[in-house]
Amino acid sequence: MSDMIKTGIIKGATGDWEMVMGLEVHAQVTSNAKLFSGSSTEFGSEPNSNVSLVDAAMPGMLPVINGECVRQAVRTGLALGAQINKYSVFDRKNYFYQDLPQGYQISQFKQPVVGEGIIRLDMEDGSVRDIGVERIHLEQDAGKSLHDQDPHYTFVDLNRSGVALMEIVSKPDLRTPEEAGNYVKKLRSILRYIGSCDGNMEEGSMRADVNVSVRRKGEPFGTRCELKNMNSVRFIIQAICYEAQRQVDILEAGGTIDQETRLFDANKGETRSMRSKEEAHDYRYFPDPDLLPLEFDDAFIEKCRESLPELPDEKKDRLMNELGLSAYNASVIVADKENADYYDALLAALVKGTGKSQKELAQQASNWMTSDLFGALNKASKNISHSPVSPEAGAELLGLVVDGTISGRIAKDVFEEMFESGKGAAAIVEEKGLKQVSDTGAIEAIVDDIITNNPGQVEQYRSGKDKLFGFFVGQTMKATQGKANPAVVNEILRKKLDG
Ligand code: ADP
Ligand code: MG
Repeated sequence: MSDMIKTGIIKGATGDWEMVMGLEVHAQVTSNAKLFSGSSTEFGSEPNSNVSLVDAAMPGMLPVINGECVRQAVRTGLALGAQINKYSVFDRKNYFYQDLPQGYQISQFKQPVVGEGIIRLDMEDGSVRDIGVERIHLEQDAGKSLHDQDPHYTFVDLNRSGVALMEIVSKPDLRTPEEAGNYVKKLRSILRYIGSCDGNMEEGSMRADVNVSVRRKGEPFGTRCELKNMNSVRFIIQAICYEAQRQVDILEAGGTIDQETRLFDANKGETRSMRSKEEAHDYRYFPDPDLLPLEFDDAFIEKCRESLPELPDEKKDRLMNELGLSAYNASVIVADKENADYYDALLAALVKGTGKSQKELAQQASNWMTSDLFGALNKASKNISHSPVSPEAGAELLGLVVDGTISGRIAKDVFEEMFESGKGAAAIVEEKGLKQVSDTGAIEAIVDDIITNNPGQVEQYRSGKDKLFGFFVGQTMKATQGKANPAVVNEILRKKLDG
């Protein structure tokens, strides 16, 4: 299975099959009010407390477009390098369901607000894959049916009814489960950088419909099945593997794939049929007569563009090309907005504290962050936004290494203590007397002792066993409890042993 995740190839009895995936991601637009009404979008409110007459579809109510949601959709399009359509139309998508009081969803069909764009994936092996985005359209969310509150009745909560969603539709460019997972992570990261969606998959602010088909390499696309409402990257990967294998089994047995909507059961690790897939014409789409088309001028689009922050791809390039970070460190740091913000704050505080340039400090700061800090956070199952060591506290610690007050070795112990106790680095160093000894006289005295006490090793070293130099360094460090400045130790040992 892990092979299949990376290769997207299924080894069937009759030969190899290739997977093809396309994702439709529903991302809730960050906005205080709904798409066509002033009701609150707050998560976790009392059921049916955020429902206006518009959201409940009372007769005669009229939708009014929320400009902020439109602005966020345009910013998202720009962040994906996509075509912004200056003229777009809202349509009614008609269907009946108890949690859809209007009897139709207001969506965009033929003329969406955003056209084609691209999402760049950084693969684990360092390669890059560009995945096409077909379109982004704005639409309303439906309410929620609660089937588990009563043995006889289904309840309906309309709090989500009318909340603005962006549907971001990819081209069928994804070829492996790993790519599909990376696509979702990268998209979520971009949405968080620009603040158009909080990307919170557990709360349902971002969910994906995953379309899966299989084919022989080089043949036309096969019939797809759609796995509905997936809300975790891990499940997406599992579900694709299961579903692709299921399709191969059917095809190899001489069967055909029915185009249908399926649900992934995370407990069983299986997908099962939910309903046969509707065709667009079943929905009787038509332009909503209550809403004017959206029309933008260049100035509006430019303003949206100016409001974008540095995006993950740009940031990664800058960290590598201008600050000299390794590709690995750069991609770990930019992968999440929280990481990137932490790093920026760490580096800024370190520059301020030491008076050195960003370039001189960048790699050291990124090494500490990606190994020491992330290691400790992982071990404690903590998110960086809940790190007990703030960027400023981290900079204080690194500053002590940079100015030679403590050695890199001691810094690791000090960091452990900071992480545990929340105390500052300088205070810990002071309290425990961990200051690095750079005093030449003190170190010379210790080295003299060691030379006197180890005549055999000195003899061997002097007759050519160079490797023993490390032994003397180790002895000196031990005698000073690791506090001797390694550069000074080296220099004195060279002088005394070689000189
Ligand atoms: P619908 O709303 O009917 O699902 P969309 O056009 O909105 O149709 O979305 C179709 C999605 O399915 C897109 O993400 C597209 O990339 C993907 N897709 C289309 N054909 C295939 C295929 N043969 N195999 C896998 N994915 C596909
Ligand atoms: Mg679909």
